[in-house]
Amino acid sequence: MGSEAQSKAKFIVLLGAPGAGKGTQATYLEEELGIPHVSSGDLFRENLREETELGKLARTYMDRGELVPDEVTIAMVKERLARPDCAEGVILDGFPRTIAQAQALDGILAEKGHKIGVVPYIKVADEVLLARLAGRWTCRQCGAIYHQLFSPPKVAGRCDECGGELYQRADDTPETQRRRIEVYFQQTTPLIEHYRERGLLVEIDGEQPIERVRADLLAAIRANGRS
Ligand code: ADP
Ligand code: ADP
Ligand code: ZN
Repeated sequence: MGSEAQSKAKFIVLLGAPGAGKGTQATYLEEELGIPHVSSGDLFRENLREETELGKLARTYMDRGELVPDEVTIAMVKERLARPDCAEGVILDGFPRTIAQAQALDGILAEKGHKIGVVPYIKVADEVLLARLAGRWTCRQCGAIYHQLFSPPKVAGRCDECGGELYQRADDTPETQRRRIEVYFQQTTPLIEHYRERGLLVEIDGEQPIERVRADLLAAIRANGRS
C-alpha cells in the first residue's frame, strides 16, 4: 500500500464550527507533528492585507459572513498545497467547508498519491460558540489566538509569543458571527456525515479546557492517522 513517504503522510482535516477552536489547536498540532497548518481563512486574510484581486473579491463575502465561492477557494488552497512544505502532510483548518470542496480536496491529494488520514471534529454547542467568537483576539504579527476570558494574554493587548499587537477581526461583529454560524450549519455540517460514512471522523469534545482538547486530538491523530 504505497511508498514510505505515503505511509508517513499525515493529511488531517479539522472540522468544527466557527469558534470551535480549530485555529487554536492547529497551532499546537503544527508544532507537535511538524507539518504545516493551512487555514483558508488565514490565506484569505493574507490576500486582504496585500490587496490582491482575490482579496478584494473575498472581502465582499467575508464581511457578510458568507462563504467565498468554491471555485476561487479551491484554486487558492490547491496552490498552497502544491508547495513543498505540504508534501509530508498538512493540518487543514477551515477547508473544506462544502461537499464540492471536499471532493476537490480528494482529487488534489490523489494527484500526489495521498489521502486524508483522519478528520477530527471539534464539537461545541452553539451557545458556547458566540461567547468564544465575541472574546477572540488575534496577534497581528504571528496569528496566535487568545480569548479575553478563556485564554487571556499575560499582558493585555500584547502577544505572549512575539509581543505583537492583538486585534479583533473585522468579521467578528455580532451580526457576522451569527451569520457565519448559520452558514456553517447549512453548508458545512453535511461534511460531518460525509466523513463519518468514510470512517474518517473522530468526535472530540471541544468544550473541555484547551489543554484537554489538545490531548484528545493528539491521541485521535496518533490512533487513526497513517503515521
Ligand atoms: P472562523 O475561524 O471564524 O471559522 P475563518 O477564518 O475560517 O473563520 O473564515 C473567515 C471567512 O473566510 C469565512 O467567513 C468565509 O467568508 C471565508 N472562508 C474561509 N474558508 C473558506 C472556505 N473553505 N470556503 C469559503 N469561504 C471560506
Ligand atoms: P476557530 O478557528 O474554530 O474559529 P479559534 O481557535 O479561533 O476557533 O477559537 C475561538 C476562540 O475561542 C478564541 O478566542 C480562543 O482563544 C477560544 N478557545 C479556543 N479553544 C477553547 C477552549 N477549549 N476553551 C475556551 N476557549 C477556547
Ligand atoms: Zn504574536
